Amino acid sequence: MTYPEIKLRRGKSDSVKRFHPWIFSGAIQSLPDNLKEGDLVSVTDENGDFLAVGFYQIGSIAVRILSFQNEEINTVFWKRKLEAALDVRRKLQLAENAQNTTYRLVHGEGDTLPGLIIDIYNDTAVMQAHAVGMHYAREIIADVLIDIYGGELKNVYYKSEGTLPYKAALNPQDGFIRGGTDVNVAIEYGLKFHIDWTKGQKTGFFIDQRENRLLLEKMAKDRKVLNMFCYTGGFSVYALRGGAQLVHSVDSSAKAIDLTRENVELNFPETDKHEAFAEDAFRYLEKMAGEYDLIILDPPAFAKHKDALRNAIKGYTRLNETAIRKIKKGGIIFTFSCSQAVNKDQFRLAVFTAAARTGRNVRILHQLHQPADHPINIYHPEGEYLKGLVIQVE
Ligand code: SAH
Repeated sequence: MTYPEIKLRRGKSDSVKRFHPWIFSGAIQSLPDNLKEGDLVSVTDENGDFLAVGFYQIGSIAVRILSFQNEEINTVFWKRKLEAALDVRRKLQLAENAQNTTYRLVHGEGDTLPGLIIDIYNDTAVMQAHAVGMHYAREIIADVLIDIYGGELKNVYYKSEGTLPYKAALNPQDGFIRGGTDVNVAIEYGLKFHIDWTKGQKTGFFIDQRENRLLLEKMAKDRKVLNMFCYTGGFSVYALRGGAQLVHSVDSSAKAIDLTRENVELNFPETDKHEAFAEDAFRYLEKMAGEYDLIILDPPAFAKHKDALRNAIKGYTRLNETAIRKIKKGGIIFTFSCSQAVNKDQFRLAVFTAAARTGRNVRILHQLHQPADHPINIYHPEGEYLKGLVIQVE
């Protein structure tokens, strides 16, 4: 199969040969005149020898690679890729499990499909394109999705209004492209969550904290829990199941507080142990007394880009310092960063700085990360974005 050819400069093929899934615009020697954004292209080295097939896009990442084999990107290709992704989730016991109906099926580069996210909520898939080529491929992907689930998946909601480059002027409309449903309560490890894929952040739910919530549940018994940046209240619901004495959820968004209350009500309609507050996290932490002995800090990405790094690290330091200073003796903090631009060591250094400023004795009990349905392509270490520490404060 031959697609229009993009030729790389001399010495620029090495990262492709090491299976890195992106080609930066600076590596390109020549490209066809009539190439359009989102077109499939063949990438060759300076001698014209084949390297990869991918989607072309205008911008610093010029090609997102779909295959390192010279093959046609057709139904057979999509079926092979999506079946491979589903097979992994089955083996992880996340798919085809009545106690768990929500998981990430496709995690972009981690599933060697750069620019594509697919999250599953019961019999609905929420698909998000981050690359123009994926937008054009959405119909074939939707058909293959329905096909590989053999009747178990009925609806495909396409949600790319906020994720495609707006200069591409594609004007994607969020909405169902297959089926349609109002049933939006999904189950995560036996707990129910109302998923708002229409208005919610990302695809409606932060699936990536599932395993960390489960760990929190084990540590919550009889504790007084503060779930900071609660969004849909995921950690709060697990803490209640774990036997927490009380759980307070905080988020600056009133909508998030409504979602949290709704999810607590779905699982524990009788509980009087939960309260939720729409407030700024920093303000809440400053004014709170030292009543909590388990605190979760799961803020939004403080650094979306490398240039915001310094401020982001300051933000993490300040946040953790206040929590470490105020938590009860023997208390536990689950602290996270989901900024791709902040690496594991930088985050740990921020927490170290925070601890040192308080003068309290702090131990790391667990080092946390994103779960297996958000895999990291080893040739694309940039895909490691979620990191966390569970620390105990004496
Ligand atoms: N822990 C959540 C995900 C958190 S997402 C989960 O497990 O699903 C980050 C949340 O932080 C968002 O809901 C956002 O509304 C909230 N947020 C952002 N800035 C904030 C601030 N300054 N104070 C409190 N909440 C904030």
